[in-house]
Amino acid sequence: MADLTTDFCIVGGGPAGLTLALLLVRSGARVVVLERSRSLDRDYRGEILQPGGQALLDALGVLDPALAAGGYAMDRFQLVEHGRTLIDADYRGLPGPFGRLLSLPQRHVLEELLAQCGKFEEFVHLGGCRAVRLLGSGGRVEGVEGDRAAGSPTVHAHCVIGADGRYSKVRRLAGIEAGRLDVFDQDVLWFRLPLSGPVPREVRIFRAGGNPVITYPSYPDSLQVGWTLPHGRYRALAEAGVGELRERIARAMPPYADLVRASITSARDLTLLDVFAGDAAEWARDGLVLIGDSAHTHSPIGAQGINLAIQDAVALHGVLLDSLRRRDATARFFEPYVRDRRRTINRITRIQIMQSKAMLSTGRLGGALRPRIAGLVSRTPAYRRVFDTIAFGDRTIQVPG
Ligand SMILES: Cc1cc2nc3c(=O)[nH]c(=O)nc-3n(C[C@H](O)[C@H](O)[C@H](O)COP(=O)(O)OP(=O)(O)OC[C@H]3O[C@@H](n4cnc5c(N)ncnc54)[C@H](O)[C@@H]3O)c2cc1C
Repeated sequence: MADLTTDFCIVGGGPAGLTLALLLVRSGARVVVLERSRSLDRDYRGEILQPGGQALLDALGVLDPALAAGGYAMDRFQLVEHGRTLIDADYRGLPGPFGRLLSLPQRHVLEELLAQCGKFEEFVHLGGCRAVRLLGSGGRVEGVEGDRAAGSPTVHAHCVIGADGRYSKVRRLAGIEAGRLDVFDQDVLWFRLPLSGPVPREVRIFRAGGNPVITYPSYPDSLQVGWTLPHGRYRALAEAGVGELRERIARAMPPYADLVRASITSARDLTLLDVFAGDAAEWARDGLVLIGDSAHTHSPIGAQGINLAIQDAVALHGVLLDSLRRRDATARFFEPYVRDRRRTINRITRIQIMQSKAMLSTGRLGGALRPRIAGLVSRTPAYRRVFDTIAFGDRTIQVPG
């Protein structure tokens, strides 16, 4: 494959990249997506979708088919300590038609986004193709060089969008600082247990002694479990061997102890998530915009990453069309978008830091005060506002009719 010329070259076919691609091709723009992976399987990726993201995918006609491929609806988020429910956020009371959390395999969402993009002639998807170089001159980005088995395509574009995730290559190629912030005290070790009995209707943070654990049902047949551990301590813990780790995990979740012992047989059953926040030093350069995790990375607490990635795409779509019309893709042109989005993103990061400290900390003082504080806080108007932001993000962002 040789040279391609397009309006927009999107690097990364995750939730941010494919949502943006669909919006742009629906509006008549030409789009090329470079995606490193050959498949749509994204194991240990975001599965919990908040109401705000559901509403946007629904407006795009993506939600129902994605859900028909399989997924679970949940009513509430709970913090449970020694069998006592300290926080019980019931999504059914939220306004609008999406009063629920969804556990939806990312594959189902990406498959549907890609199928819809594929209906447009203006759409080109280069799967199994990684971005390896930015094209351009005088500091302006003008395209991307890819690398794939079938050759090294070059894509020239009015604007390049880096949607290639938390370790963004595009961001690195542009020399933009990732803005990593080690503001969370816990990393997460993910694994799956077989699901038996009725499918749970809640996402839970479960504190039963030992490290807090996050659980939710994962379609089709597992319970996704995240065992939290002190940030940066995995290597030291793993040196004690998988048997010791397994016992610590089993102690942290007594009702599942037997299942944990039967299911975790090797370190390969465990996947570590290095939890950090990221806020790239620049989100736009001349000819380049970063969106989703490549611009800002989040902790899994509160399930914000997909919501925010999709909202970035929807918010940027109209700005990009305008930029194409005016033949202006300067960083300055994108400044209002960046300013607005940063405000929301910073607020979400502050909420996540607060959630993490309140729900996952293991200090004695926190342990003693948590039940009382949780009881008081969950009755305040501030709590309702925070809940609303977690569920919807920026409500003003809407898919154009
Ligand atoms: C273990 C884990 C659990 C999570 N749980 C949740 C959750 O429950 N709910 C939630 O909302 N969020 C969750 N998140 C976060 C969520 O997955 C991300 O925020 C979201 O996927 C970001 O979307 P994105 O499109 O910006 O990036 P990504 O989903 O990371 O997509 C980036 C894409 O770019 C591709 N790519 C990378 N490099 C290149 C390259 N050089 N060239 C071409 N393509 C490239 C990748 O293959 C990928 O397809 C979780 C994250 C992790 C890691």
